[in-house]
Amino acid sequence: MDRAVVGGTSVGGTRGAGRFAPSPSGDLHVGNLRTAMLAWLFARASGRRFLLRFEDLDRVAAGAADRQLRDLAALGLDWDGEVLRQSDRSHAYQAAIEQLERSGLVYECFCTRQEIQRAASAPHGPDGAYPGTCRNLSPAQVRARRNSGRPPALRLRAAVEQWTVHDQLHGDHTGPVDDVVLRRGDGVFAYNLAVVVDDAAQGIDQVVRGDDLLSSAPRQAYLAHTLGLAPPGYAHVPLALNTSGARLAKRDGAVTLADLRVLGFSSADVVTLIAGSISAIRPGRSVTVTEILDRFDPTEISGDPWVFDPPTTTVHNEGDRPP
Ligand code: GLU
Repeated sequence: MDRAVVGGTSVGGTRGAGRFAPSPSGDLHVGNLRTAMLAWLFARASGRRFLLRFEDLDRVAAGAADRQLRDLAALGLDWDGEVLRQSDRSHAYQAAIEQLERSGLVYECFCTRQEIQRAASAPHGPDGAYPGTCRNLSPAQVRARRNSGRPPALRLRAAVEQWTVHDQLHGDHTGPVDDVVLRRGDGVFAYNLAVVVDDAAQGIDQVVRGDDLLSSAPRQAYLAHTLGLAPPGYAHVPLALNTSGARLAKRDGAVTLADLRVLGFSSADVVTLIAGSISAIRPGRSVTVTEILDRFDPTEISGDPWVFDPPTTTVHNEGDRPP
C-alpha cells in the first residue's frame, strides 16, 4: 500500500479527509452503498475525517438527499461535520472562474452538443474531446455569436493534452485533458469545476469513487493544478454490475435498501452482503462496518466488478441471507 497517499496526515499537519459525494437524483442502490462503504473504510482506516457532499447542481429528486443520508446511517456509516451542498456554493465556483479568467484561461463556447459530436467524430477528430471550435474566435466572431442569442458555455483553455494522476488501485494513470466546460450555457456550474473547488475547500486529500470516473481524474487534477490547488490522491473502485455485465441500475430489481427491506433483508443483512464483496467473511456470519474496518486492507480490494443478482423472493427465516 502506498502510505504516502493513504496516510492520515496531509501537508501542514492537519488531518486529511475522504468523502462520498452522491448526486441526490434518487435512492442509492447497493453498488452506490458499496462505494460509500469503501470510501468510509479507506478514510477511517487511514485516520482521516469522512465528509459528505451532495452534488445537487443538476438532477435532484425530491426527498432523495434525506433518504440517502438515512440509508448511509442505517449501514452504520458516520461522517464528520455538516453535509456540503453544491447548490449553496455558487460564489466559490464563480470565484474560481474569475481567477482563471484573470489568467486568460477561460473562453466562451457557442457550440451545440450536436456540433461538438459532429466535429469529434470527423476523421482525425479528437477522441470524444472538445475539438476546440470556439477556442480562437476573433472578437468580431464572438460578438456575432453573442448576437445570435445563444448563451455561451465557459470553457477552460487547457495548455496540455494529457495529465497523470496517481491511483492506489490503478497506479499512475495518464488520460486526456480537453477544454472542459466550467459553466454551462444555461448558467449551471459544471461538475468538473465544482468537484475540484469543493474537494479543495473541504480539505479532501483522498478521493475514493467508482472507476467510471477514472477517466475524469486527469482533467480534474489538471484543473486543480491551474487553480493552484493540490490534487487529491485517488482510489477508483470497481462498480457493481448486473448479471448481464451492465452497470447496476434501479431497473434491475430489488437494489435499494428500501427494496431489500420489503423482501425481508435488514440493514445488517445488506452490510454483510456488501462485506462479502470486499473481504472474505465466513458464510452465515453477520458483520458490522466496524468489524470490517478492523481488518480492512485496501491492498486486498479486488479490481473486478461486483456482480449483484437481486433477490426476488422474501426471506422468512431470521438466519437467511441474501444470495
Ligand atoms: N456525484 C458523482 C456521482 O454520484 C460522484 C462524483 C465524485 O465522486 O467525484 O456519481
